[in-house]
Amino acid sequence: MLIIIGRTLNMLKSQIEAQGAAFEETGGFSERLTTRRLEAREKNREASPACPQCGKPMRRRKSAKGEFWGCTAFPDCKGIRPLEQSRH
Ligand SMILES: [Zn+2]
Repeated sequence: MLIIIGRTLNMLKSQIEAQGAAFEETGGFSERLTTRRLEAREKNREASPACPQCGKPMRRRKSAKGEFWGCTAFPDCKGIRPLEQSRH
């Protein structure tokens, strides 16, 4: 009788362990997805140039003359860059 209970417990234990491993795998998978998403976000950030004066990322700004890249540290930094002309 005790042997049977012992075996059942062992079976349950290994089942729980298997579920734990599966959970860890799933967690790892969604973690990897999060990393992907962060990488994609990083790439979007890379699309904006770095300030030629302080190296901080730049943001699209509008003036009467048109759009240009302005430093995010503005007004402390007045670094600007012309927008790359992709339209004709
Ligand atoms: Zn700057």
